[in-house]
Parts: sequence; structure tokens; C-alpha cells
Amino acid sequence: MQFEERKEAYARLIVKAGVHVRSGQTVYVTCPIEAYEFGRLVVKYAYEEGAERVEIEYNDEVTSRMTLDYAPLSVFETFPEWTALKLNTYAKTDVAFIHIAGSDPEIFKGVDMKKLSALQKVRHEALKEYYKLQSTMGFKWNIVAVPTRAWAVKVFPGENPDIAMTRLWNGIFGACRIGEGDAYEKWMAHADDLKGRCEKLTAWQFDSLHYTRASGSDFPVGLVYNHRWEVGADLDRTDGGRFFANMPTEEVFTMPDRRRAEGKLVAALPLSYRGTLIDKFWFVFHDGKVVDYGAEKGQEALKALLESDEGSTRLGECALVPYPSPVAEQNILFLETLFDENAACHFALGACYETNLVGGPDMTEEELLEHGANQSMNHVDFMVGTKDLKIVGTRENGETVTVFENGTWAF
Ligand code: ZN
Ligand code: ZN
Repeated sequence: MQFEERKEAYARLIVKAGVHVRSGQTVYVTCPIEAYEFGRLVVKYAYEEGAERVEIEYNDEVTSRMTLDYAPLSVFETFPEWTALKLNTYAKTDVAFIHIAGSDPEIFKGVDMKKLSALQKVRHEALKEYYKLQSTMGFKWNIVAVPTRAWAVKVFPGENPDIAMTRLWNGIFGACRIGEGDAYEKWMAHADDLKGRCEKLTAWQFDSLHYTRASGSDFPVGLVYNHRWEVGADLDRTDGGRFFANMPTEEVFTMPDRRRAEGKLVAALPLSYRGTLIDKFWFVFHDGKVVDYGAEKGQEALKALLESDEGSTRLGECALVPYPSPVAEQNILFLETLFDENAACHFALGACYETNLVGGPDMTEEELLEHGANQSMNHVDFMVGTKDLKIVGTRENGETVTVFENGTWAF
């Protein structure tokens, strides 16, 4: 398959599997301004799949950076009502969301963290309905990424920018199973495999998981009672609309107990958080809470994350990703969570997914906390998976099952 054909196959996959556009539907796309050609391809295929109306919004991170640098703090303390009205309304009226990402992993390096925190806080508040529906599969949404120059040259430092772009495109195609054969069929088979893993894991109902590495590191984490393992692949909305929340997606994930994690956890990969790179970092947990931490790079950003609210110091997601996978096989450090989190086992600090708990979406905030479900305005994945990782699950009756061995499935 030629390079341009792969782009077309990718765009088609996004509308067909990503949000499963149905006839008569409205589709809302966001896209980096630099990738307008790819954005147009997505719009075209969405119409071809039967969309009634496709709206695309191009965003420019360079102007976002200028706003952060020049506008006063007060600007970030309010959220435009019309934007909230639009997104909340779309979420409630079955619009399919396609978010095309692609940014410089260090675009916001050095900006005033107070402005970013303020922005995130008002956004979280103003878009409450939108986020609630997003986390409970109330509408179809799909996040994918395309290369941008500023991103590509950071992934391949020293490389000619044009070649870096091509290499990043190829990495994305490989990670997303775009190549020989029908990508849609491959994705459906992949979703079935992941769902099978979830069923087994959910049936075991582990009380806790024990992470060990050859280095001797040891990390036990509790899982909430009545948890469910889930995938972001081929999700079913109540009305039958199917979608893939993320592409790529290699993970199965569940809900850790916010009160039970113990010991030191060392990150396996760097993390781009709010446009700042955090590298060589670690946390020490006690009773589920981060009580000590450090980073060789990006300590300030890490501090800002942990100090944003109580929930940011506790775990909200526990995800298993086998090695190898099409993402890991690219052997690229993407510096973009969408890809890197799908190359390695990870945890998230911050908000849980309520659907990971039986009855969770119908519980009040107090009930969720009581069940051990974490609440926060943040949800930040960080990678812990290595090739020597072993994970043993302990069931309520004390029986143990080896879930992971040498970084991959042991069942
Ligand atoms: Zn995850
Ligand atoms: Zn996550």
C-alpha cells in the first residue's frame, strides 16, 4: 500500500470503526490546523459513510501558547458560556466526536502553571455534563493523532523535518494496523481478543495485584470490590452505536482502590503532561496516597499535578498492556500518551472510570468514594510496564493467579 493510500485507509478507519458514523448523524471533528489536508479527508469519508452534517474545528497550539503567555490570569478563570453550551449540547444530542491530536510535546514548557491550572479547573466545571457523558459512554468519541512538524522533530531529534514527518506517519500507521489487509477487519478481531481478556479478568475478581520486576521492585495495589475490566475498543452505547475511544488501543483497564497502594513505583517512560516533559520520575505510595515523589526533569509540572487536588495523589486507573504489540513494535518513544500508554502497562493518577465499577455510573460522588473510586479533575496516565514485569493477582479466597510474566499475558 502506498503512503497516500495509507492516509486514506487511516481516515476511513477513523470514521468507520472509530465512531462508526451512522446515517443521518452529525459529526464534530477537531484537528490541528497544520493537518488540514488530513482533516478534509476525515470530513469526506464521514459524509461518504452517511453523516448528515460534519463540522470541523481547526486548532492552533502556537496561538494557544501566545494566549497563555500574553493574556492575564483572569482570562483563564472564566470559561466561554457559548463553548460550554455547544459541547454539552452536542454530547447530549448524539453527535459523534472525532478528536485528531498532534502537538509539540513541549508546547507549554515554562508557561505559568497557575494559568493552566485555572483553565483546567473552569473547563472541568463548565463541561461537567460533557465529561460525565464521555466517561459513561453517553456519546461516541474517538481520539487519534496525526504528525505535526514540531512533534515529529522531537520524536526524531536531529532528523530532517520532512523525513521525521514520514517516519512518524509510518510509526502511526504501524501502531494503528494500517498496511496490508483490511484495517477495519483487523481492528474488529483485535477488539474481540481484548474483550475475551476482560471477561476472564473480571471473573477472577482479584482483590489485589502484585507488580514485581527483576530488579526486586515490589508494588501491591488493591482493586475495588465488584470491579469490571474494560476496553476502549468497539464499545457499545445503549442505542447500539459502537466506537473505539482511542486508536491505537491495546489496553484492558480497571479500577484500583484509592486507599490501597503501597511502596515505590518507578515510571518506565517519560510523560508529556500539559505540554511539559516529565522524565525519570517515581512515586512512593502509602495507604494509596503519594507521600513522596521526584523527577529528574519536569519536577515543577509533577508538583503542579500532585497539588491540584486530593484525587491527583491517588490512583484512578490500572491498565494492562502486553509486550509486544503493534505500538511497542514501532520502537518509537512517541512522547504522546495516546501511543506510549498503549506500549506499556500503566496507572493513572486522578479520576477513575465509573464504568469500571458495577453500578458506578449511578452512584453519587460520596458512594463512589466509599467504594474506593477516585475523583479528581485530573486523569494522567504514567507508564510502568517493562519487559521483566510480573503481575500476580490474589483473589478474595487467597488463591493466586499469574496474570503477566516477562511483560506479557500469562493466561
Ligand atoms: Zn489507560
Ligand atoms: Zn488513562
